Amino acid sequence: MRERKIILSEKDMPKKWYNIQADMPNPMQPPLHPGTKKPAGPEDLSPIFPMALIEQEMSKERWIDIPEEVLDIYSLWRPSPLHRAYNLEKALGTPAKIYYKQEGVSPAGSHKPNTAVAQAYYNKQEGIKRLSTETGAGQWGCSLALACNYFDMDCTVYMVKVSYKQKPYRRSLMEVWGANVHASPTDTTKSGRDVLEKTPDSLGSLGIAISEAVEDAAGKKDTNYSLGSVLNHVMLHQSIIGLECKEQLKMVDQYPDYVIGCCGGGSNFAGISFPFIHDKIRDDKQVRCIGIEPLACPSLTKGSFTYDIGDAAGFTPLMMMYTLGHDFMPPGIHAGGLRYHGQSPLVSQLHHDGLIEARAVGQEGVFEAALTFARTEGILPAPETAHAIKGAIDVALECKEAGEEKTILFNLSGHGHFDLTAYDDYLAGKIKDVEYPQELIDESIASLEKIS
Ligand SMILES: *Cc1c(COP(=O)(O)O)cnc(C)c1O
Repeated sequence: MRERKIILSEKDMPKKWYNIQADMPNPMQPPLHPGTKKPAGPEDLSPIFPMALIEQEMSKERWIDIPEEVLDIYSLWRPSPLHRAYNLEKALGTPAKIYYKQEGVSPAGSHKPNTAVAQAYYNKQEGIKRLSTETGAGQWGCSLALACNYFDMDCTVYMVKVSYKQKPYRRSLMEVWGANVHASPTDTTKSGRDVLEKTPDSLGSLGIAISEAVEDAAGKKDTNYSLGSVLNHVMLHQSIIGLECKEQLKMVDQYPDYVIGCCGGGSNFAGISFPFIHDKIRDDKQVRCIGIEPLACPSLTKGSFTYDIGDAAGFTPLMMMYTLGHDFMPPGIHAGGLRYHGQSPLVSQLHHDGLIEARAVGQEGVFEAALTFARTEGILPAPETAHAIKGAIDVALECKEAGEEKTILFNLSGHGHFDLTAYDDYLAGKIKDVEYPQELIDESIASLEKIS
């Protein structure tokens, strides 16, 4: 029998996260306080984050111990399997070997619990009783609800009103795990009331929901805020994905020529690729790491590398990153998790330094790739994940063209069981490529204040 699944035993699960800040050729530019424009210190972040996470955010330690309690919860679904995609390879007729890491096996259905569990743990350690957050499509809200449930903490989720109405089952799942879910804008925060006063029928936005969640946390001693992507400590927690992949590939004597992931805020791509970039920097390995983003929200391929705020309201520090400008209004594509104007500062710096590559792909090709995958390997991917699949298929076809027997690894960041409306639309021929017009990107970037 062919070995389709490469399974790492529980006892061989990595016990430390990898921090790429220890190995970057160029150091990160510091985050800046949005008011003073001076480097933001721990005291600027402590009203909404626990000290342990602030330390990880700024740490240059290469290896950071995963706490025993976090490992214990990880072991409910980790190590996740690594699959060889024999059926997909055959359908494409490619000489390349394709491997995918199955992060859809977590209880919430994606990679996001890898950081949610760690964040809930450190907050609990520092006496925090409740976490607040925002969610768009609902994947992050579900992951944090799950994590708070394990640690017996309260969880408040501000869910963008349009998703609250259109994605009732993600809301149900959050409530099953005990979270309080509000359709944002609400009348319980000042930010929410300000919006409702001007537009009583507002359907909300991620920017408004972030403002509500941050305001909720900043005002209360027992409450902190939690973010599911972009920040350095999130990239750190996700490194478990790539560290496991390395062990699993070793078991079958393989090393990837390509490592591929989809890019929203950058966390699952960072998770699978950073441990390999470690080898690229330290051991001169010839591995190519490629982040795949939507043509409709192309921060890495068309954005500027500059300081910008992380939210529409301007509560968050200014971060040096590839951005389309915080005024950028992404078109309503179905991959909700990839509709962020910016990009993780770590992923951005590495892209700027030429250590990673980026490609942008259109919606039609993405859904076609998702169906090819579902009809060969059987798994229905999240629309976000389907971007990575499209990227992997394109590379596999390039290998076919060149007659090269390369090894491709990609991250299956989550399943698409809650995204069937999008698949319905695709099957009904309603999904079209949307490319964000360059003039609008230029306009949005031009409106950014020049700081660097
Ligand atoms: C949230 C999400 C993403 C995008 O976020 P990143 O931080 O870029 O990983 C991708 N895939 C899935 C399944 C998600 O839930």
